[in-house]
Amino acid sequence: MKINRLSVFQKNLPLKDPYWLSGGRLKFEVLDATFVKVETDAGITGWGEGTPWGNTYVPAHGPGIRAGIETMAPALLGLDPRQVEHVERAMDLNLPGHLYAKQPIDMACWDIMGQAFDLPIADLLGGKRSTGTPAASSVSSGEPDYMLDIIKSYRDRGYVAHSAKVGGSDTDKDIERIRHLEANRLANEILLYDVNRSWTRREASIVMNAVADLGVTFEQPGETLDDIAQIRSVTTSPISVDESLVTLQDATRIARDGIADVFGIKLNRVGGLTKARRMRDVAIAHGIQIFVMATGGTAMADIEAAHLAQSIPDAFIRACWSCQDMLTVDIAPGSGQRCVNGLITIDDTPGLGIVPDEALLGEPVAVYQIG
Ligand code: MG
Repeated sequence: MKINRLSVFQKNLPLKDPYWLSGGRLKFEVLDATFVKVETDAGITGWGEGTPWGNTYVPAHGPGIRAGIETMAPALLGLDPRQVEHVERAMDLNLPGHLYAKQPIDMACWDIMGQAFDLPIADLLGGKRSTGTPAASSVSSGEPDYMLDIIKSYRDRGYVAHSAKVGGSDTDKDIERIRHLEANRLANEILLYDVNRSWTRREASIVMNAVADLGVTFEQPGETLDDIAQIRSVTTSPISVDESLVTLQDATRIARDGIADVFGIKLNRVGGLTKARRMRDVAIAHGIQIFVMATGGTAMADIEAAHLAQSIPDAFIRACWSCQDMLTVDIAPGSGQRCVNGLITIDDTPGLGIVPDEALLGEPVAVYQIG
């Protein structure tokens, strides 16, 4: 089987509400999404989506995905998409780094492999759990009552996991937010306090030590792994790392040096399922739990994350973010499994199990083909 055509589509995805990160430092209103259609000489077609969370959050760039695919396309045409590690090496050889540009291609190859072997991707990744994965909401930073109202709106839809955005120079405000949300947390709820790198070491020490009695988990409380390792040495709260978990080498360092207790694996950031499954295995081998997420995007991106989440044992999976609920558009109405009552599951449809409506994507912005 050979890849004989790559078609690239661009779509703006407006958010239902403006979204604030890092204590109001970063604002987001629309996401720039790239969809990739990979066709083969066997008549099997795979789809991928790459949607960074804007271009100010981490080093990822919507137009950069399209430029990266243009650079890599000549090396991809003619490859067997079922051989995902051959495809991975071709991408890494022709465009070192730029992992966010590789993820949608990798995703489409896994979709094709699943269809070729008549299995959902979660089964190709080692085996699908029968239990679903809790969907995690993403709670924009703001006043404590505003944040609690967002949690309540998701709670009404069955969500039990929430990633509450904190961080900023007002440490008293962060302490107030965390104590208020914890005082109103239900017994079965999972709350993660996501700092998104915005604290200095001093601020992290002040807030984390002030609420140490609560035993809550903080995500990415500093900018770098060196910062988090130092914060770790002066605090006791559990720590999750996501923005600083980019490569397999990051994963092995975090595990070896005991920098964090939880991995936040974001598929677009780490370059797709082929690379993410190795991080999953490092985590499980070292007693590290896992959040799985798209960096953003539609139900397609969420389903890719759900396949990986469903391949992780119950004892290790924390939750899987569902971004689709935050968007005003759905590019695959009527297709694919959706988050139901706060639970994400994967059915037995081979491959990814979701196909976009091409009429909603418009004309491709680029097509690369053999001949
Ligand atoms: Mg995070």
